[in-house]
Amino acid sequence: MTGDRVPVRDDLAGLDPYGAPQLDVAVRLNTNETAEPPPDGYLEEVGRRIQELTLNRYPDRPHRELRQKLADRFDVDPTGVWAANGSNEVLAQLFQAYGGPGRRAVGVRPGYSMYPVIAQVTLTELLEVDLDDDFQWSPSVVDAIADLDPHLTLVANPNNPTGVTVPLDHVTALHDRTSGLVVVDEAYVEFGGESAIDLLDELPRLVVVRTFSKAFRLAGLRLGYLVAHPWVVDDVRRVRLPYHLDAIKQVAALVALEQEPAFLEHRQRVADERDRVARELEQIDGVRVWPSAANFLLIRTDEADLFDRLLRHGVLVRDFSDKPRLEGCLRTTVGTADENDAFLEAMRHELSN
Ligand SMILES: *Cc1c(COP(=O)(O)O)cnc(C)c1O
Repeated sequence: MTGDRVPVRDDLAGLDPYGAPQLDVAVRLNTNETAEPPPDGYLEEVGRRIQELTLNRYPDRPHRELRQKLADRFDVDPTGVWAANGSNEVLAQLFQAYGGPGRRAVGVRPGYSMYPVIAQVTLTELLEVDLDDDFQWSPSVVDAIADLDPHLTLVANPNNPTGVTVPLDHVTALHDRTSGLVVVDEAYVEFGGESAIDLLDELPRLVVVRTFSKAFRLAGLRLGYLVAHPWVVDDVRRVRLPYHLDAIKQVAALVALEQEPAFLEHRQRVADERDRVARELEQIDGVRVWPSAANFLLIRTDEADLFDRLLRHGVLVRDFSDKPRLEGCLRTTVGTADENDAFLEAMRHELSN
């Protein structure tokens, strides 16, 4: 016997684990979380409800109460609702069920950084169609995707990292002109843009994916869900691990839904702050800002090493400057007013010459 380690699967050798830095700095604006914690009383109520759990037993595998509660919220049938550990796991389950060897997924560029990773791990081919020069959708983007007739079409609306929204008639056109699943990832839709959920009646192969990580202020909970036609849930069940949603998480999610108005009450403040930060950035020479409907802003400058220079001010943003089509781009999450001021101050300091 030789060798101290087993080589990883050949096609994974070049894949870096997802690694947005989790640094202990003063101002963390790099992962689009909400800066404000869950509302007062939430954790106390979760604590009370946890006491009633029988943790020696496995959790309710089909998480019926949670699916019912989500179904009530959207006025749909619970057989078309499914939750998992973050919308990333929902997406991974969709790729496992409908992707795989010999199957094709299509996204846009620039787009969400996890789609290529999930595609690679599930041995699904991923093709990316370029958005236009302003990172907007257009009929020619729809044409290009339709020509590829993917098994999975991925539409983040609003898009990440741009914040740009996708008109719903493009979603309908994609559905009409492809034979696969059209997955609309609405991670930020509570902040802006239009949900595709109301299109479900007309579009049988539409899947809408949502998360508790962003506007719902529960990134630490790891919970996401899909709303679709029941056959999608039947198929996703084939690939899910048994008891994938733990009992504590199911309770914590139920309580959050009971307290939904308090959870979402901060949205106007975030939108106002986003628009203020955008306006102030536009006053700085050499900064381009994309119009965003989400809780983050994409900016472009000609500055070298701006990410590192901001970090020296204790401000952590997301660096896209070495990504295709995103040369010189950074993405900043909308934080508290103080955090945003620290970011703006650091930007002014670095860009005044
Ligand atoms: C943040 C984000 C998600 C959320 O992932 P979770 O696993 O639910 O935390 C999904 N899609 C996009 C486009 C995102 O930006």
